[in-house]
Amino acid sequence: MAAAALGQIWARKLLPVPWPLCGPRRYASSNFKAADLQLQLTQKPHKKPDPSKPLVFGKTFTDHMLMVEWNEEKGWGQPRIQPFQNLMLHPACSAIHYSQQLFEGMKAFRGSDQRVRLFRPWLNMDRMLCSALRLCLPSFDKAELLECIRRLVEVDKDWVPASTGTSLYVRPVFIGNEPSLGVSPPTQALLYVILCPVGTYFPGDAVSPVSLLADPTFIRAWVGGVGNYKLGGNYGPTVFVQLEAKRKGCEQVLWLYGPDQQLTEVGTMNIFIYWTHEDGVLELVTPPLDGVILPGVVRQSLLDLAQTWGEFRVVERKITMKEMLRALEEGRVREVFGSGTACQVCPVHQILYQGKHLHIPTMENGPELVLRFQKELKAIQYGTRAHEWMFPV
Ligand SMILES: *Cc1c(COP(=O)(O)O)cnc(C)c1O
Repeated sequence: MAAAALGQIWARKLLPVPWPLCGPRRYASSNFKAADLQLQLTQKPHKKPDPSKPLVFGKTFTDHMLMVEWNEEKGWGQPRIQPFQNLMLHPACSAIHYSQQLFEGMKAFRGSDQRVRLFRPWLNMDRMLCSALRLCLPSFDKAELLECIRRLVEVDKDWVPASTGTSLYVRPVFIGNEPSLGVSPPTQALLYVILCPVGTYFPGDAVSPVSLLADPTFIRAWVGGVGNYKLGGNYGPTVFVQLEAKRKGCEQVLWLYGPDQQLTEVGTMNIFIYWTHEDGVLELVTPPLDGVILPGVVRQSLLDLAQTWGEFRVVERKITMKEMLRALEEGRVREVFGSGTACQVCPVHQILYQGKHLHIPTMENGPELVLRFQKELKAIQYGTRAHEWMFPV
């Protein structure tokens, strides 16, 4: 499969080192086959949401879901597309007790030619497999899973909204389903995928900036930890910090790390700074994938786009609060923004740090780069021009 081969090339970019913690393949993945897919269509299709009304993220689900079961003796079962339904879980289920759980997030877009395409799904498959191996969940064939997801989106393709800015959010989940209280590798697991039609993050063509709370007492991830994997356990504890930010009048959290207070991520987004570096060179900088940074697909895409433009330096390097403060003082900061599947690119206009509101002049500067990234990504995602990043459904 040519698409899968391309995906592997990108995977090397996304995950620069063969991560030692991915460990040996404990389980055969060879019996996960899209060709075995069973189709069980709903008898009671739901009403599609009214396109004139805004969609709240993650509250509306489509008619079907993909479900694949695994157990140690038989390996993977037949994948099924089935009516969207509740799960039945043993009360000791290890996903619930010990967070043996991981997830992914990606989007399908309806192009102006009405065809539906997924944005760089190979990168999500690569990341998902890394998360699975870190949790001692069984391995799977990424190309086979992607083909099952493609079929699911195809079945529910009428749920993909049409106007620009809207999309279908694809949420794969993989959980340990061990019915026992011992902390151990699960002998049973469930992999399933659900779909949500989602509206525009920024209504109209405007982008609205967010304010951030930077408080080093809260730490999202650490070296040797699991912040670079999309594990559910990384997110539950952040809600408290998010509320703390809200309480102080900020919209999101700027996650700092280490004694030098490195800027690592914004909420559940990667962070980018467009500035003139201390050496006088104009650059786009984002922290490197050193273990505390989630390897975002949009992050990689912004780096790839900026690199092909070749108009300024593009670099992965640590950014500290001290450097940020100095650059703000010297008027070198042009734009600060987050990147992620939900918003694509989200500008930052303020940081609350040590009781002081630091103004970030992102909006005054256009935001030139933010808008250019938005426009470029939109053209790729909703365009009809074949682009190697888009995977037709
Ligand atoms: C998912 C996520 C991102 C963004 O990743 P994308 O693949 O670009 O959506 C960034 N940071 C964190 C902490 C995340 O969970």
